[in-house]
This record gives sequence, C-alpha cells and structure tokens, in this order.
Amino acid sequence: MSRKQNDIKKICYFCSKPIEDKKTLEHIIPNSLLGKLGIKEDELKGEGAFQYSRIKVPAHSSCNSGFGSEYENRIIELLDSPKQLYEDLKAEERGMLMQYGPDKSLTMLISTWLSKIYYGLFYNDYLKLEESEYTKIAKSIIESSNFKMIQEAYQDGVGFCIPSSLYVFTSENESFDLRTMIYPQTILMKVKSLTMILCIGDGFLTKNYLNNGILEDYRKFLSKEEKKESRFPVHLYGLAEIIALRMHIPKEPSYLYSKKEKEIFNMSLTTGVNNPEEYYKVDETSIMKKRVEILKEWNVKIE
Ligand SMILES: [Zn+2]
Repeated sequence: MSRKQNDIKKICYFCSKPIEDKKTLEHIIPNSLLGKLGIKEDELKGEGAFQYSRIKVPAHSSCNSGFGSEYENRIIELLDSPKQLYEDLKAEERGMLMQYGPDKSLTMLISTWLSKIYYGLFYNDYLKLEESEYTKIAKSIIESSNFKMIQEAYQDGVGFCIPSSLYVFTSENESFDLRTMIYPQTILMKVKSLTMILCIGDGFLTKNYLNNGILEDYRKFLSKEEKKESRFPVHLYGLAEIIALRMHIPKEPSYLYSKKEKEIFNMSLTTGVNNPEEYYKVDETSIMKKRVEILKEWNVKIE
C-alpha cells in the first residue's frame, strides 16, 4: 500500500476534508438494499472482486449520515416499487436545466445517488487495490476536476452530482446488474425491472440528442425485442446506444460551480454557431455500427 493510498484513508469521501475525530465507513451500495435484493454476499467483478457489502469508503460520520438521511433512505423506499419509479422518472424527462442545484425532483435524487456510487466504486478500488495501470485510472477519476467540484458542492449543501443525463428503461427480466464505464464515464444500475443509466458529467448533451420521441421509439423497439425473446438484454442495449451516441457528440460539456450562488452553471448547451442543428449533427449510421461493436465486446448476441 503506497503512502498516497494511506493518506486518502483519513480523507472524507464526501467533502474531501481530513477526518480528525471518529471515522465512519460509508457503504457505497446500501446494505439494506443489498439485503432486500438478496445479493449481500455477491461479488462485483471488475479489476478487483469485492463483495457488494464490502465496498466502503471513509467519511465523516456527519457527512455519511447526512447523505443517508437526505438521499439514501428515500431512494431505498422508492426502489421498492421499481415500476412506479420508472413511470415517475419518465414523467420528469422533458425538463432540462441550465442552472443546476439540488431540487426535489426524483431525477435529481437518483442522479445524485448514482453519482455517489460511480465515484465511490473507483474510490474503493483506488484505496484497496495494489498499484497498477488500472489504479492510475481510478486515481485520475477521483482526482478529476469534476469530482472536486462535486465534493466542493457537497460541502455547501449543493448535492453530490454534476449535470448528467439520466435514462431509464424497463424490462421483464428482474436480475440485478451494476456496471461502470470509464470512457465515456457512465454507470448502469438495474434493480428488478428498472434500469437506470447516468451519463456522468455530460452536461445533458446526450439528452439533447436522445430524448422524447426518439427515446420512446427506442424503448418500443427494445420492448418488442424482449417480447420475441425473453432473454433479450434490454438494459445492455440501452447502455450500448447511449455510449455509442455519446462517443459521437461533437461537443464538450462545460460547467462551473459558483460558491456564491451555490449553484452549478451548465454551459454545455449554449452555442456560438448560427446553424447548431447542422453543425452538431451526429452520424446515425456510424452510431449504429458502434453500438453493434460495443455489444459484441460484451458478448451480447446480435440478431
Ligand atoms: Zn466529510
């Protein structure tokens, strides 16, 4: 274990301040949820293999319990009714925010929670794995300016998330899944029938392309395929489409945090060109090819 990794053990995951008094360990995936899903002993296999219940990061007890009472407790309750949550999140899809702060929407609640899990998984890996090429990547993610912005915002009570598109899909298949992508940064969590996908820090750019009618058509296509073949992996098709699209978006997200206003300003959707429709067009055929490529990489059978 390197010194640097040891140092980080005395730093709070949420607010990045040193922990002077009693240290608590934040369960990245809440134990009560794991219990409900019956997967406490199951392992998340990535670069290392960790039992879900052992994925923990150091935190101040106040930061830890603060996050629990503000977000987690409610989310665990919401996840008891995945079908209802799917409908409710879908109903919120039309809104897109330029200014970004904690609000009462379910979208914000779930985005914040997924963002905590995404960064927490890399944090856990960096803390516990032997130094390697992979821990270098994990380190670059938890030391990124995006994550620093999130921690700064948390200190000020402004949530634990940067502007990120959230997608939901529904399926008949109820098995649990959790996946993280490094490029582009994405997290997928599937709880029973509900698949949640968060495009970490994309400044809502993805949502700017894949939304409303197009998204609804894609969902219909997925549900039709699932009716033909019950093992059809709706959630992976959703993820592959989103990742492929994101790789083709010819624009970089940008936002900044204003300490004074206690708000994250999202500037990703502003434009200086006269013909944004044409200028920021994406190549649909190339996206489709990429989607097929990604699914092949995951060993998903393509019809
Ligand atoms: Zn703290």
